[in-house]
Amino acid sequence: MTRHDSIRAITGTTRLFGCIASPTDHVRAPMIFNRIFAERNIDAVMVPVDIPAEQLSEGIKGLKKLGNFKGAAVTIPHKLNLAALCDELGPGARATAAVNAVRFADDDRLLGENFDGHGFVAGLLGENPTDLPPEHILRDKSILIFGAGGAARAIALSLAAQPISRVDVTNRTHSRAEEAVQLVHRLGGNTKVLAIQSNHIDFHAYDMVINATPLGLHENDEMPLDVNLLRIDCLVCDIIMIPERTRLITAAQRSGRPVHVGRYMLDYQVELIGEFIGAFEKNSG
Ligand code: NAP
Repeated sequence: MTRHDSIRAITGTTRLFGCIASPTDHVRAPMIFNRIFAERNIDAVMVPVDIPAEQLSEGIKGLKKLGNFKGAAVTIPHKLNLAALCDELGPGARATAAVNAVRFADDDRLLGENFDGHGFVAGLLGENPTDLPPEHILRDKSILIFGAGGAARAIALSLAAQPISRVDVTNRTHSRAEEAVQLVHRLGGNTKVLAIQSNHIDFHAYDMVINATPLGLHENDEMPLDVNLLRIDCLVCDIIMIPERTRLITAAQRSGRPVHVGRYMLDYQVELIGEFIGAFEKNSG
């Protein structure tokens, strides 16, 4: 399929969906949703919407005024601030105080939800990058998450609901890791999730590490960790989608460690986001 084939003809009845981010060069949602719209013959289009962080509130007010703008996927740096602007949050968003999907309801209300955690766990179980049967991928596993933002919180919460041994959260700003962990304890009732200072990490202790920071989006970014400190069987996961093979993933593969790339986290939540923002409805004007 060529770039042009993947976009359905846009007419006066086409519903408009966005992918709200800043910058937008790394976003994949428009490619995925427009391909689905074309395949399912849905009269809708998704475009990247770059709203600078300090203009978020004004930008959302503007989008509310557009009669055919129905909803959006949301990513960095807006997930936490946009949650605060929503009139109503679904369970995943309340859990993380972050949204990765918003629906512009007809009564002018903004509804938000977060499907990141579900997407990460479903992607891992669905793709199974390990030699284990799916029911053992997470069982009794020790997991280290880098980052404490919206994505890290969502993943920690979803992992906490699995039969893991423990999840440690480490972050550049340690107080945010502690905040994230308290939130997971409060909502998930699972105390197997702990905050850990970067200088206290025993890298050999983990079965799985997850990069949930933006480190790796750009070629010259520093690495979130040195993979050679990990056990050779440690699964190295990155949630960055573009580039698909981040420096972290490439280094882990070269060193012989199993890897899991970021695209699956979104792939496995596309249906949920599409249903929530109303993108997969037909002929709703
Ligand atoms: P966020 O809420 O802004 O959080 C970013 C986190 O990364 C914070 O904990 C931040 O630490 C840390 N961080 C940022 N820059 C850093 C640096 N230079 N060095 C060390 N730590 C740094 O962002 P998010 O929504 O969680 O998203 C994080 C990344 O995941 C983004 O790159 C996004 O594209 C990707 N993502 C992928 C998917 C997917 O479906 N695959 C879904 C969601 C997000 P501080 O607290 O110290 O600022």
